[in-house]
Amino acid sequence: MTDPVNHAELPGALLAALSSAPRKLFIGGRWTDSLSGETFATHDPATGREIARVALGAAADVDLAVAAARAALDGPWGKLKPYDRQLLLLRLADLVERDFAELATIEALDMGNPITRGLAGRQRVMAMIRFYAGLATAIHGQTIPNSIAGSVFAYTAKEPVGVVGAITPWNSPLSQAVWKIAPALAAGCTVVLKPAEQACLSPLRLAQLFEEAGFPAGVLNVVTGYGAAGAALASHHDVNKISFTGSTRTGQEIIRASAGNVKRLSLELGGKSPDIVFADADLDAAVAGAAGAVFTNSGQLCIAGSRLFVERSIHDEFVERVAALGRAMKMGSPLDPSTQLGPLANRAQLDRVLGFMASGMKEGANAITGGERASAGELADGCYVPPTVFRDVHDRMEIAREEIFGPVISAMPFDSEDEVVRRANDTPYGLGGGVWTRDVNRVQRISSALKTGTVWVNCYLPMDPAVPFGGYKMSGYGRESGVEHIEQFLNVKSVLIRTV
Ligand code: ADP
Repeated sequence: MTDPVNHAELPGALLAALSSAPRKLFIGGRWTDSLSGETFATHDPATGREIARVALGAAADVDLAVAAARAALDGPWGKLKPYDRQLLLLRLADLVERDFAELATIEALDMGNPITRGLAGRQRVMAMIRFYAGLATAIHGQTIPNSIAGSVFAYTAKEPVGVVGAITPWNSPLSQAVWKIAPALAAGCTVVLKPAEQACLSPLRLAQLFEEAGFPAGVLNVVTGYGAAGAALASHHDVNKISFTGSTRTGQEIIRASAGNVKRLSLELGGKSPDIVFADADLDAAVAGAAGAVFTNSGQLCIAGSRLFVERSIHDEFVERVAALGRAMKMGSPLDPSTQLGPLANRAQLDRVLGFMASGMKEGANAITGGERASAGELADGCYVPPTVFRDVHDRMEIAREEIFGPVISAMPFDSEDEVVRRANDTPYGLGGGVWTRDVNRVQRISSALKTGTVWVNCYLPMDPAVPFGGYKMSGYGRESGVEHIEQFLNVKSVLIRTV
């Protein structure tokens, strides 16, 4: 099912979209300055200009937000029936749908997501909220026949884990926030959201819609700020769970910080996913899929299929076709509906990606397209990197091992199935992987051999709220989407009743 993009829906005045986005902390149902009164700047990555100053939350603000979340849990929210939580989430969904074009516009300005891509993400966001709304009334335990002497009736009940700290990255700020908040609330938890400092305007606008939907005060709280605010959440003794998406390094810090009160964690971390193309594949589909697997969102995807393994007999031609697709992509202002590739989300990320590209060249890889910053004309002040395809890459090069988070493909030939599986798995990460082939037996073998949480076959990137997503190895643990996701916000209580 596709969601048609209607450009006529774009709000005429971009400034209106921007000015409607709040810049304060949202704590206990009130918009407040940070206790320190400090703010920080957020920039439009397409132009480099400052677009807003946002309240700089810190540990003391996190304390207030956690207290508000606890009070809501112990108060009105904890007393709501599942059906009431469902209704509130469905009302929220209607409001998000109503304002989706505005949210997409804010995101285009704040992190450079092309508006056409932003609008096309509507179905994913809406489906997510409504999926979890549905699950709110489907939570249940079990009755368990048991062998205890005498007569004992045993059952399990599912209970919300409590106050959840949701810490999100900048690459898809709106959907990342929804992806954590909606299942947590469906499960009956309350949430303190710490969105990424580089792109927090759309999560703040989302919080306004929670307010409008009528959620009780304190059910959702938003503390904007740097990593220190996230660290304060991760170590907070009254937070029961952290749901985190971001880098593996920060994930490791969160694991350490969470030890104090043995918090529950779910971590969706980095990736260096393999995309494997066999000569028997539908090559037209594979070329488009391999390009989309990395160039989408300028490669700022944890699941980017950035290690492109191509069977040697077709390698040169295939890689050239992927490069040609990259060259043809229209780079430009995220607000231009014809733009396919926007800027990277921020200056630090630009420097990081340029550093990786320099490292690739130094180690002997050849960029057959891209390879340097794009700075002609209107792109001059933005964080633009064109689609880049490196060939002559070896497994040990930095560009074949490190997550780049930019539109950079490292292409490598392979000769046999066993060899490519071994090389594909030779990474500390295990988030996603792709296989392109017409051989159904090979599909079975490879999808079972890849040590990744998701395997795409003859496609790459599709996701659905009903299909679990998450990592193996250092890509993290826990699953988002699917019934598995809501379970991560629930405790299982066993009750044993002696009867006579
Ligand atoms: P990236 O490198 O993609 O920016 P990070 O893992 O640094 O990813 O950031 C993801 C989120 O984690 C952001 O909201 C960021 O502010 C937050 N964060 C950064 N450092 C910490 C930390 N030590 N503890 C908790 N959250 C953090």
